[in-house]
Amino acid sequence: NPASSKYHPVRDACWRAGQAVPYLALARTLELIEATSARLKIVDILSNYLRSVIALTPEDLLPSVYLCLNRLAPAYESLELGIAETYLMKAIGQCTGRTLAQLRGQRADLGAAAQAARLQQRTMFPPPPLTLRKVFAALKEIAHMTGHASVSKKINKIQSLYVACRHSEAKFLIRSLEGKLRIGLAEQSVLQALAAAATRTPPGPAGVTQLDAARGLSAEQFKARVDEAALVLKTTYCECPDLGQLVPALLAHGLAALPAHCRLAPGLPLKPMLAHPTKQLSHIFDRFESEQFTCEWKYDGERAQIHVPGAAELPDYARAAVFSRNQENNTSKYPDILRRLPALLKPSVWSCVLDCEAVAFDTDTKQILPFQVLSTRKRKDASEADIKVQVCVFVFDLLFLNGQSLVHQPLQQRRDALREHFNQVEGQWQFATSRDCSSIEEVQQFMDEAVRGSCEGLMVKALRGPHSRYDIARRSHNWLKLKKDYLDGVGDTVDAVVIGAYHGRGKRAAHFGGFLLACRDAAADEFQSLCKLGTGFSDEQLRSLTARLQQHVIPAPRPYYRFDESHVPDVWVSAALVWELRAADLSLSPAHRAARGLVAPDKGISLRFPRFVRERDDKTPEQATSAQQVAQMYLAQDQVRNSAAPLHDSD
Ligand code: ATP
Repeated sequence: NPASSKYHPVRDACWRAGQAVPYLALARTLELIEATSARLKIVDILSNYLRSVIALTPEDLLPSVYLCLNRLAPAYESLELGIAETYLMKAIGQCTGRTLAQLRGQRADLGAAAQAARLQQRTMFPPPPLTLRKVFAALKEIAHMTGHASVSKKINKIQSLYVACRHSEAKFLIRSLEGKLRIGLAEQSVLQALAAAATRTPPGPAGVTQLDAARGLSAEQFKARVDEAALVLKTTYCECPDLGQLVPALLAHGLAALPAHCRLAPGLPLKPMLAHPTKQLSHIFDRFESEQFTCEWKYDGERAQIHVPGAAELPDYARAAVFSRNQENNTSKYPDILRRLPALLKPSVWSCVLDCEAVAFDTDTKQILPFQVLSTRKRKDASEADIKVQVCVFVFDLLFLNGQSLVHQPLQQRRDALREHFNQVEGQWQFATSRDCSSIEEVQQFMDEAVRGSCEGLMVKALRGPHSRYDIARRSHNWLKLKKDYLDGVGDTVDAVVIGAYHGRGKRAAHFGGFLLACRDAAADEFQSLCKLGTGFSDEQLRSLTARLQQHVIPAPRPYYRFDESHVPDVWVSAALVWELRAADLSLSPAHRAARGLVAPDKGISLRFPRFVRERDDKTPEQATSAQQVAQMYLAQDQVRNSAAPLHDSD
């Protein structure tokens, strides 16, 4: 039982050294985690399981970590599970004799239904028990199957796994296939557990030397060691977000040596640095009191992280890639950017990673065009001959140059290197327009110029000193975003997840006319209703959004949706689409569940007068605005800051 505080990684494991880890060992661990709500305890349970894997079967550590994250490969490979519910029901139904109607009734937790059905079944000749590596390999195989004929192959494969399931294995197998484990295990907790496991049961080149390196340490000393190890692991993972490199290096060289073996390199997309919103010019001066900062135009396009690998001191343009804000590979979307790369790099450059914004551009008038124009470009496999919308790439940061990571250097140095080693080409490659302002009036004037130049506003960044390093994967106070529209309003738009829809009335009766949107509470792993939305759409938009949403309709709300009876929509949809919304302000709401308890004990927060701005298909529902951010945005409003009385919703 990995929940025991006296856990022994060898004696308490349910398999022996050198044996393949039974899938049941992981399923039991996930079951314990599901029944636990305290994060520290969750990390403890997982770390005990991982200690056993390190001590007994280290080659199963990588698939173990991947399965805990419900991933099969690095995020940027886009190898995803998420088999349609109907296929899973068909697979389970055929194996257990349940009808589709019976299974449909239990759809809210198909994993639990699959487990119950499996346990009631007697098998004359039970197949051999599942091993973790076999399940992992099979899931990978299923994810790789494509095309129409693949459906029956997938179902066969799923069935062969399912009939071999024991105890809770079926539940987690089916949930893995659904694409969501639903046990509230976030990536950061998995990394923390791995760091704790490797601290207590350190892997070493000559096998594991110590099963419990914490013996003799006080609780504080042990905690300090784990925190230090977790920092090394998380920082290395930021620079090298590939567990396929990280886990083997951890096993071969130990945790402390990770930074020397896993480094930032072109080809591996980084999670980008993100900004905090601000809505008053004076906040910039509060934040950067005595530090130097710089302002850049904030372009309204699509983030593009451009990677050029190199070998023998020559850039290898054939392997160059463009990644999205979400680490998706957008290379086939931008053949035009790829072709123009040689003009950007001066002869002194043989490898680099650039952080940029790709913006729709009118090459005749030399004008920046709105984001909406960019969004009409083909998303994949574009051929240059068919491209109608031209883009200009505005480069604002240089993260890697000629074999060296620059992320720890101050922005001033990164910017100098950018200007020294790269060319600007009008209408194709431009450096983000910047100015180092020293007064509010100067910032205001630069903001006005940015807006006249068709930009959204400004990005304000620390320029020199330790705060001006590039914080990979962080939403940092060292970058502030200042959008013109929100100087007097909420400060930023909200990216919310659609969880339901209402039928339209009158001339809009043919499609949906309103929607229920939610924010995400990562800690509780739930989607909490944030507002009803019915404005901001053109008829054409409503038609196409309705068509997209129809594919996600589900018969009942997911168990992790939080909403009030008064908002029950006409149809529920699975959390798949993220929409950007603008609002007049945020107010406390007795009915909406967003951030409930964070600001007021029995009230949530809702958006007043929300309007649809755009679809955010570069964000997953997990990356939508969080309940904590909603609470921060509520509290940052002037009306709230300046008065003791909270803002209340009228409903
Ligand atoms: P979030 O809402 O999570 O902060 P977002 O992608 O919605 O992320 P925005 O509010 O649009 O972010 O603001 C940050 C984005 O602005 C960056 O991700 C980048 O794509 C874009 N951007 C445009 N110009 C710049 C610039 N000069 N420096 C940094 N980012 C810029």
